[in-house]
Amino acid sequence: MRLRNIIPVMLVIVLAFGACQTQESPKNQGKAKYVFYFIGDGASLPQLSLTEAFLAQKSGEKGMMQLNQSQLDAHGWFYAHAGNRFITGSAAAGTALSTGHKTSINTIGKSADHSQNYQSVAYKAKEAGLKVGIISTVSINHATPAAFYAQVDDRGQYYKIGQQMFSTKFDLFAGGGIKDANGENEDKPNLYERKDGLKVLRNNKTFLTSTNADLPLYFSHERLQSGATMPFAIDMNDDDLTLSQITQKSIELLANPDGFFIMIEGGKIDWACHANDAAATIAGMVDFDNAIGEALKFAEKHPDETLIVVLGDHETGGLTLGNDDMDYETNFKILQHQIKSHEQLENEIEQLIDKGAEFKEALAFIDENLGLGTKIKLTEEEKQILRKSWETTTNVKGQNVELLYSSVHEFLYTALKMLNRKAGVGWTSTSHTGLPVVVHAHGVGSNHFEGILDNTDIPKIIEKTILKN
Ligand SMILES: [Zn+2]
Repeated sequence: MRLRNIIPVMLVIVLAFGACQTQESPKNQGKAKYVFYFIGDGASLPQLSLTEAFLAQKSGEKGMMQLNQSQLDAHGWFYAHAGNRFITGSAAAGTALSTGHKTSINTIGKSADHSQNYQSVAYKAKEAGLKVGIISTVSINHATPAAFYAQVDDRGQYYKIGQQMFSTKFDLFAGGGIKDANGENEDKPNLYERKDGLKVLRNNKTFLTSTNADLPLYFSHERLQSGATMPFAIDMNDDDLTLSQITQKSIELLANPDGFFIMIEGGKIDWACHANDAAATIAGMVDFDNAIGEALKFAEKHPDETLIVVLGDHETGGLTLGNDDMDYETNFKILQHQIKSHEQLENEIEQLIDKGAEFKEALAFIDENLGLGTKIKLTEEEKQILRKSWETTTNVKGQNVELLYSSVHEFLYTALKMLNRKAGVGWTSTSHTGLPVVVHAHGVGSNHFEGILDNTDIPKIIEKTILKN
């Protein structure tokens, strides 16, 4: 092409580009004063799709019943690999999502060789004058929340992470408890009793009646399950606080004319997926999505100043919709008959075993708690599988299936697997997988989250949106 032909082509491109710029919505140009950063641990497209398909089937509809996150302004996906491994973990993934740097597995807030500390977007938000809140349903010193405030060589240094939480100068921490609050060997001063840095609240009602005069504060949910985590959403009772209640209260505490940055983690979605517990996964996704609903209510009042970002850190479980047993059929709605998480059921089944219960009682137990028997018919073959599992494992100590965050008795694991198979749910792993992760965004700057990204891009985009102008 000769030069005189190139110039008009370039002119057309420049004009077209200029036209695109002017057509961009004004809300994509502004500065985000209020930022919500939602992380569903272990939640990617499969977890979202299963939940939406389950809700549709439960109400007798076909297809998907869209959650809040599917209805946000913009959608994209990103690659989640770690610095030194294709399938990532929450420490490396959290570091990428909070600091914009890939690192090695189990490292938090540091370079792969631990020689360099990275600063998270939460610190940058704080420096920009925003109030900062960190919320999680797992322990507050677990990898994902820690990635926003701590720098440690290994995610297992829970006590050190907990100590660092008290020196952040962030305004609010809320949700799960402190894992290893007395140190790994139970020989250190109790972190809950610290009197510096944060006011510690451990009572649900006290948290709900707290005011911004109580900031900076750390609220640990009153009732905790294993690993100092909040109860699985499926196990919550009326005295427990949901993630949306905690989010709503946190917005009230942090709202101020200079803005806020709140990271909200639905951490136990990952735990449910590690146990291949679809019903607990769905309940966790709904609880997480309800919290997004609280952010949306706030965004409606501050449409030109709010950015909501929703994503997972990686996929867990190799979850999919469909399996060989069910061929082309699905029956997700039967998952509604499971009324407790694998963890709660495990506690109860151990009690049955301890009192020498017979198979008949074990069958009644899974009928009551999983719906297997009356609401969901069992074939003779399935009953035989369950009987064999009960009779060969109940007298043998240690007959458990060891999972990352739990240990589930062989019989219970068999029953849960049966329920999941009959529902048409597929699981390929009890670990994470290398699937890309979806991101949804809403409000100011949301268009920057469209397309194919890398996990390290996310905090950089948020930072630019906060610090813009
Ligand atoms: Zn995990």
